[in-house]
Amino acid sequence: MNKEQTRDGMRAMYASMGISKTIYEYGERTLDALRGRFAQIDERAEYNQLKVIRAMQECHVSEACLLGTTGYGYNDLGRETLEAVYAAVFQTEDALVRPQITCGTHALALALMSNLRPGDELLSPVGKPYDTLEEVIGIRESKGSLKEYGISYRQVDLKEDGSFDWEGIRAAVGPRTKLATIQRSKGYQTRPTLSVAQIGELIAFLKRLKPDIICMVDNCYGEFTETTEPTQVGADMCVGSLIKNPGGGLAPIGGYIAGKKECVENAAYRLTSPGLGKEVGASLTALPSFYQGLFLSPTVTAGALKGAIFAANLYEKLGFHVVPEGSAERHDIIQAVEFGTPEGLIAFCEGIQYAAPVDSFVTPEPWDMPGYDSQVIMAAGAFVSGSSIELSADGPLKPPYAVYFQGGLTWQHAKFGILKSLQRCVDKGVIEEERLKSLL
Ligand SMILES: *Cc1c(COP(=O)(O)O)cnc(C)c1O
Repeated sequence: MNKEQTRDGMRAMYASMGISKTIYEYGERTLDALRGRFAQIDERAEYNQLKVIRAMQECHVSEACLLGTTGYGYNDLGRETLEAVYAAVFQTEDALVRPQITCGTHALALALMSNLRPGDELLSPVGKPYDTLEEVIGIRESKGSLKEYGISYRQVDLKEDGSFDWEGIRAAVGPRTKLATIQRSKGYQTRPTLSVAQIGELIAFLKRLKPDIICMVDNCYGEFTETTEPTQVGADMCVGSLIKNPGGGLAPIGGYIAGKKECVENAAYRLTSPGLGKEVGASLTALPSFYQGLFLSPTVTAGALKGAIFAANLYEKLGFHVVPEGSAERHDIIQAVEFGTPEGLIAFCEGIQYAAPVDSFVTPEPWDMPGYDSQVIMAAGAFVSGSSIELSADGPLKPPYAVYFQGGLTWQHAKFGILKSLQRCVDKGVIEEERLKSLL
């Protein structure tokens, strides 16, 4: 087949999947301008792929490592080797990587609760942490919060322009400040995501003020978006979820803490029991997916990054406010698009759902989700329930009617999902097809 025939075949394929010729062409036009940036993302993925393979080779990953244990899980070769691999990738002294860590929030709570003692103070120098941490810390009352255990909390907000409030931070660090929690990703806020270099600057500043302060980074959504991780610029711990980037879409559960030996040991004693620590915790059947997921993670993350950039540019050209903007440097995989109307937000989510490999035939609807003050709509047709490294989108039904979306196990799926979202917006009259044509 020559190039033109291939293109015709592709158009026909997309048409058979419900994508109009106009939308396909608009997508191709948008992509033409992104080739250079995509090449840069592929280069980062290549570097990170090698980093993971090198770690696996250095740690002597063998077929026996994939077997797993039951019961107490003493001398679990696969678990111990995997933790060594994570420590090598993150360049840390040790790591805790377990299916017994149920999610990202659990991993973060574990790292905090095990490294803080009554009377200590926790500091967030980067503003409000991720929603679910509010109850962990006790900003919102909850059973078992750090607050209940006599651990206080102090927060220094970022400045209006997203930069660090150096003076505010200097004033907030006191004799009781034991640990600083630094969230890399913006999560579902509008502040910019922090680069690894910025995190390094912040940590250096904190350590100058107080050399023994423990610096923990909430690394969720940030892994492998750059070629270095925060533990390489001074973080004592990086913490994250395996159903996001580092699980590569294959891990069905799990979280990790990579960091200083003492920090990781504290966490292990808290996860299992004082005296037992890392020595127990059967890996059951999780290991093959943890290894293979980590192996795939650099390229999966690259696909998700391309999807985020593609969507930002596709919608930005149509006049929508997108965060980050189309040309922005990326440090996480989340993309927000503000629709300004509930119809736009809903149509976008419907399109993402209709593009899914699983549950493509269902239509997502807004619902009253516990803990939210407005209805929320979510689209997810994932192999792993709730996985947000798979293509997924959600947003609260309130102004500015922003959709937050992320993931895509392959760039090709992310692309299809985004085109499908745009098609749905056109079909629902949220965007006029004539506008697209005028941009061709
Ligand atoms: C997802 C996320 C969390 C919490 O992880 P869960 O697995 O949803 O519990 C914490 N912090 C950030 C920045 C996140 O993106």
